Amino acid sequence: MLKSHSCGELRKKDTGQKVTLAGWVHRRRDHGGMAFIDLRDSSGIVQVVFNPQKSQEACQVAALLRNEYVVQVVGQVVLRPGGTETPKLATGEIEVIAQSAVILNPSETPPFYINEDVEVEESLCLRNRFLYLRRPRMRDNIILRHRMIKFIRDFLDARGFLEIETPILIKSTPEGARDYLVPSRLNPGKFYALPQSPQQLKQLLMVAGLEKYFQIAKCFRDEDLRADRQPEFTQLDLEVSFVEEKDILQLTEELFISLVETVKPEMRVLQPFPRFSYKEAMAHYGTDKPDVRFSLELKDISDIAAQTDFAVFRSAIDNGGEVKGICVPGCAHYSRHELDGLINLARSCGAQGLITMAFMGESVTLDTVKSAAARHLTQAQLEDIAARFKAKPDDLVLIVADKFEVLCKTLDELRREMARRLNLADSNLLAFNFVVDFPLFEWSETTNHWESMHHPFTAPREEDAPLLDTEPAKVQARHYDVVCNGCELGSGSIRIHHRQLQEKIFRLLGYNEEQLEQRFGHFLRALEYGAPPHGGIAIGLDRLAMLLAGEQTIREVIAFPKNQNAVDLMFDTPSCVDNKQLDELNLKLKHEIIGL
Ligand code: ASP
Repeated sequence: MLKSHSCGELRKKDTGQKVTLAGWVHRRRDHGGMAFIDLRDSSGIVQVVFNPQKSQEACQVAALLRNEYVVQVVGQVVLRPGGTETPKLATGEIEVIAQSAVILNPSETPPFYINEDVEVEESLCLRNRFLYLRRPRMRDNIILRHRMIKFIRDFLDARGFLEIETPILIKSTPEGARDYLVPSRLNPGKFYALPQSPQQLKQLLMVAGLEKYFQIAKCFRDEDLRADRQPEFTQLDLEVSFVEEKDILQLTEELFISLVETVKPEMRVLQPFPRFSYKEAMAHYGTDKPDVRFSLELKDISDIAAQTDFAVFRSAIDNGGEVKGICVPGCAHYSRHELDGLINLARSCGAQGLITMAFMGESVTLDTVKSAAARHLTQAQLEDIAARFKAKPDDLVLIVADKFEVLCKTLDELRREMARRLNLADSNLLAFNFVVDFPLFEWSETTNHWESMHHPFTAPREEDAPLLDTEPAKVQARHYDVVCNGCELGSGSIRIHHRQLQEKIFRLLGYNEEQLEQRFGHFLRALEYGAPPHGGIAIGLDRLAMLLAGEQTIREVIAFPKNQNAVDLMFDTPSCVDNKQLDELNLKLKHEIIGL
């Protein structure tokens, strides 16, 4: 190799060694006739000193070095002079005195700093991804991701799982998103769909008797990328035969706990993972992906509100809504302007408004509680509300009176916003939790039929099966989600393994005979041949890596992400293809689209 050692591995014990290093100029400083180069390679950074008294020749090369030049240096490892150690650098106790140096390749000046982690305009950083990835933080993220995946592979291998690849060119499998389609040249007019997940394939592997499957699987979903999503993303996909819910949840919990211990030991994990029913999660947090690093739980005061003369409360209740709120400690002093900000936030979630109650004094009286609602309440009602929220002096209670969905959305948003402002969420804590007992279906106003809350392969609870014919809304699913710090990390379920039941679900979802045969004929047939009871889960690895890396977006843990318009700015793709390729595929573009 062109180097004998890696920059980041050199330590005190290496002093006296002659080493050959190769890497990039991270930073240079000139001082008292000497040049100090921070030399960087994928293992880290080491300081190289060019001293004219030691080597004139090396110093001549050093004079030419600029940031990001690639250079090979031969030198000797020495202890840094007392007082010049840099403890925050792993190699900070030593430096390398250059004896000779060769420029292996010069570099243009990069369009942004590599050696300073300052924000870069998104398009610049995506277009120059090969440079952005040179930043030490990004390198660490990529290394973390590698170690995470390696750990998962070893963990599952030790438990008897087989890693099995499944096709990318396949047929649509419903996960609630739009498919990416690939035209077939050999079968004119026909298309493959890229998998939204390997769902059917992993179930078919269970029918095949393979019992424990996993895959680090690429999934493709053609969605609008408003949230932090990517058109292609990576899941840890797994499936096991002869299991029940608790088996998959236990496996997931063990996997996450040992993963964090191994790759991120400085982070804490809440143990055991709390479990909430869907109803509980919605009632206490207003969301099915609760951030439980802090409390600020929702309290229901609908019963008290129903007794009051306050029109805002009464009309919400009369319209079938609820009155709920959160109690935020120490914020009673909020200014009008700050309160208006919260009211606007509530409105942006669709709420009619926000009722605020500031508990200014020791006692709870109509004088010490500052609120537009106070004068519509009796002293007793005010006291009941304060007691329900356990409000203390200096607390601010935020109340929403609205329809259930709007109320949940608003209070979830407010809860997270207040936790952010008050810095309530410990950034070193990973608060994993499970949400279970989801409804099997939700009614879709747009399509006017039932839709799966998870996907159509999810089994209903056995005791709920009779309700499929009478009250589908009440059927509970054997579906579970795993959530961490307010982020949905994964979902799974125990599956249907009988053809009759699977067919019945498909029909409830509105598929007709022909669609059933065409889209799921193969799958339904497989269920006729002794399909074992089975279940599984899929975990979003981009999100998991994001949480472990302490990043705010998944783009920071993906080597080559796309932007919000699903464009890869570096390759400038999707891109046009020439007519010859279209002809081969028997495709013709609509003129208005290509602007002809
Ligand atoms: N295929 C499902 C998903 O992608 C996960 C599962 O049910 O295993 O969400």
